Amino acid sequence: MSRRLWVHPENSSRLLRAGQTRRCRYCGNYVDWHYKADGSPVPLVPQEFPARQIPDGKRWHLSRGTVYPGDGGSRFCRIAHTAVCPAADESDTHPRLLPVRRHLAVHSRKLVETGTWARPAEAPTVSATRIADHTTSGPDREVALMLGVHYLAPGRIATLRCVALTPDKRRCPGTLLAATTPADAGRWRTVPVPYSGGLGAQFAGEPMDAYDLSALTYAQQLRWRWQHCMAHDRSVAPDIELTEWIAFNATDHAEYIRKELG
Ligand SMILES: [Zn+2]
Ligand SMILES: [Zn+2]
Repeated sequence: MSRRLWVHPENSSRLLRAGQTRRCRYCGNYVDWHYKADGSPVPLVPQEFPARQIPDGKRWHLSRGTVYPGDGGSRFCRIAHTAVCPAADESDTHPRLLPVRRHLAVHSRKLVETGTWARPAEAPTVSATRIADHTTSGPDREVALMLGVHYLAPGRIATLRCVALTPDKRRCPGTLLAATTPADAGRWRTVPVPYSGGLGAQFAGEPMDAYDLSALTYAQQLRWRWQHCMAHDRSVAPDIELTEWIAFNATDHAEYIRKELG
């Protein structure tokens, strides 16, 4: 699979290549940009860390230039810069990663003091709502646009399941896409990445793929938002639980920014 190219955060006329090292726009520390097999970017701290000191779920490793979750059986692993960026909200940092964060914070201050790097004017705050389901949902989450909002699905849009309960108290097996006509379904389109505060601001305006439902009627957009199949559209059957959509933001969900459409 070909690597996707990403525009350098600070200079939209230059392209960011896999393995390229850049300063984090918000803390000034160096970041190695690498890509997962599906083409989504992971900004890595350039150094390696002893794997046993890094919590499960925070380890990454490179294999033939592609980044994968976990330590790959090695005693050393990499970590994502976003997990330790000192510009991000400290409460989002895993306690065992706090020493790394502190180290980067000290370095960041030194860069400012020596005039090596200047902090951006706008103070970034990374939302405290870092989504724990990064690890519980599939890696192939997709973005939909409906009711004027970008939403992140728990997986592929095509397999997104209805949340209504059947009379025997089981979750409806229907998908949202099943039995739809073109008037009830969206279409894939390239849209600009919406602006978000924090680290994701660097992606704002870049092209991304999204399943666009905005041409649908309001009622049909609500059906998608409420996560009901066509059979359960406007049904009074109880739902299994809350819907699985979460609001997309480029800071917490950078790894799901895709650009595969022509
Ligand atoms: Zn940073
Ligand atoms: Zn259903």
